[in-house]
Amino acid sequence: MALWSFCVSASLAAASDQTGTQVIDLQLRWHHQFQFAGYYAAVEKGFYRDEGLDVRLHEGDPAHQPVGEVLAGRAQYAEGNSELLYYRLQGKPLIALASIFQHSPSVLLVRKDSGIDSAQGLIGKKVMMANGINDADFLTMLLNEGVPLSSVRIIPSSYDLGDLISGKVDAFNSYLTNEPFFLKERGIPYNVIDPSNYRVDFYSDILFTSESELRNHPERVAAMRRATLRGWRYAMDHPEEIIDLLINQYHVEKSRRHLEFEATEMRKLILPELIEIGHMNPGRFQHMADTFVSAGMIKPDYSLDGFVYDDTPRRMPSWVAPTLAGAVGLIVLISLAGYNQFRLNRRLANAEARVRKANESLSVRLKEIGTLNQRIQEQAIRDPITGLYNRRYLDEMLEREISRAKREGYPISLVMIDLDHFKSINDNYGHQAGDLVLQNLGRLLHENAREGDIACRYGGEEFVLVLPRLPMETALHRAEEWRESFAERCTHHGELSIYCTMSIGIATYPDHAAQAEDLLEQADVAMYRAKRGGRNRTEVAGQVSSERQMAGDPA
Ligand code: GH3
Ligand code: MG
Ligand code: MG
Repeated sequence: MALWSFCVSASLAAASDQTGTQVIDLQLRWHHQFQFAGYYAAVEKGFYRDEGLDVRLHEGDPAHQPVGEVLAGRAQYAEGNSELLYYRLQGKPLIALASIFQHSPSVLLVRKDSGIDSAQGLIGKKVMMANGINDADFLTMLLNEGVPLSSVRIIPSSYDLGDLISGKVDAFNSYLTNEPFFLKERGIPYNVIDPSNYRVDFYSDILFTSESELRNHPERVAAMRRATLRGWRYAMDHPEEIIDLLINQYHVEKSRRHLEFEATEMRKLILPELIEIGHMNPGRFQHMADTFVSAGMIKPDYSLDGFVYDDTPRRMPSWVAPTLAGAVGLIVLISLAGYNQFRLNRRLANAEARVRKANESLSVRLKEIGTLNQRIQEQAIRDPITGLYNRRYLDEMLEREISRAKREGYPISLVMIDLDHFKSINDNYGHQAGDLVLQNLGRLLHENAREGDIACRYGGEEFVLVLPRLPMETALHRAEEWRESFAERCTHHGELSIYCTMSIGIATYPDHAAQAEDLLEQADVAMYRAKRGGRNRTEVAGQVSSERQMAGDPA
């Protein structure tokens, strides 16, 4: 404590040393652990130094919490969770710079032998919570599930996992990246009740600063953010190196195995392969704020204005835009007048030429109209985004294909594909990026279609393939090839690489159904079984859940 005070006063007093390097204090949420890997990397690899910053990392404890330290001016930067947003909505001058975790690790753990496997199961049970602003996610999860808060016995957390192990409480608030390790080590089976499965999805571990820091040192804020994210990218690429560092230089309490567990679990929440580290979507903060509203913690008339840091280059002086707009407007007007004159002259000339050539070109025109007609007919059965057939065409063709198969006695396999967690791709990267992913899958299916196959975009992010003369086993083999190749295939959107997986259901005529509608339904049921089984897998109609998952569900 005394050492801490000394560090703080010494560093803030000396804003920059003799070399011009600026001294910065950064408050972590808790004791040194892999949770802060990117900051250690930025310090140790010299990323802060490259920006002219001498960053000192301070461990957190109950007396040194991120928001308090920044508001008191003892640290210019800190890493916080949802409380950062909560205090901002309470009027505190805080600015979010980068969200390191795309999803919060905060979950409730229950013992498997308690039989509890959902939020509903918590009715009448003893549930430990932090008993403060950190509970918004749990409270809203219960509310979203229609569980009255009065029906759950909420008690303040002891932060002692022993209370869950001994059965003193039924559910225990914990971090996915931490406590499950101890339960696994001790061979105690557990279930996770995760708010993100109940429409509550928070950012976590957010780098933030104060309004005054941003106002007085905008370049420094940009530099801190840049170097920190560089550190995080490094840490995600070299986790073992950071673990060595933590053990040898930061003297952490956790064992190597525990740090490795933490690193593995963190990857699933940071999603470095899928999402640019530090990405923040104002819509997600709005979702968090709405969650506070539903938990009764803030009033509904909140405003998020100015909270999320804008990392786009600084704006031009205020007089430039109107002047520029005026000048551009004038140029446009003059150009339009000139262009109209030009068009008029050209039209006159063209009209003359057309009259002259009318007779010769009549036959050519008729041919063109024929082609156009054909194209219009084609468009009526094509999906404009992927170029695959549309649902209308499939519905028409499937009936016919089945009649033919019946006559000639061959099977038809129907493959139904639904992209996994596609909504989050739209949420995180925008609709346009989502469209690119759809196009990418469209290309894959198109490239792999044999003659006679019908590849179709059946709805939003659902695709159906009709594979005549293909028995179930062969269809399954092909579907698995597509699934694996799509999971490895990234979609480029600007500098981003987006990965996506798909869940597949297969039904075969005549094994599983004899009518088009029933066949579609059977494939749909199988596809939903693949979803329930963990996604990124293929299921066949009328079979029990298989072990076909090749890779884990990335989200
Ligand atoms: P799950 O794995 O459970 O299928 O998750 P999911 O996100 O796919 O959930 P859901 O099926 O409900 O969401 C499908 C999303 O697909 C919702 C919608 O916004 C998006 N979507 C539908 N059509 C289009 C489209 O044409 N373009 C884009 N970009 N998104 C679309
Ligand atoms: Mg869907
Ligand atoms: Mg989906």
